Amino acid sequence: MGRQPLWRRVDFIPQITYFKPAGVPLAHLKETCLSVEEAEAIRLKDLEGLEQEECAQRMNISRTTFARVLGSARQKMADALLNGKAIRIEGGNFEMALRRFRCLNEHEWDVPFETLITAPPQFCPTCNTPSIMPLWPPGLGRGRGGRGRRRRGGRPW
Ligand SMILES: [Zn+2]
Repeated sequence: MGRQPLWRRVDFIPQITYFKPAGVPLAHLKETCLSVEEAEAIRLKDLEGLEQEECAQRMNISRTTFARVLGSARQKMADALLNGKAIRIEGGNFEMALRRFRCLNEHEWDVPFETLITAPPQFCPTCNTPSIMPLWPPGLGRGRGGRGRRRRGGRPW
């Protein structure tokens, strides 16, 4: 079996992606970077209170992997909170539960996560052009309803 990319399924992208402690001069500010799937792990486990098994299923990863992602996320948040570091949320190997695509003729359609992983779209379903591109989630580049805010860099991975 070939090695598959480790796409984790994510239902939610935080709108606020940067947290900074008050009263720390920029020159002295240290930063810790939380990936989008680490944020999702915290959200499912600690905010929604789901069992680890269910969290893992929701993210399309094994329970062991989920435990590792969650542990890493908690460690980073604790480090930021107790050592006064800023937190940046970005990057990672994730796909949204639904990803919107657009072709060069401006047709748009949604592709579910499962399809993206097994058979990513090659053509526009309306006009069959192969010139298609995914629209990025809000807060992480070009996205639907991203409030016009753009992060530097396009692809989150
Ligand atoms: Zn089209």
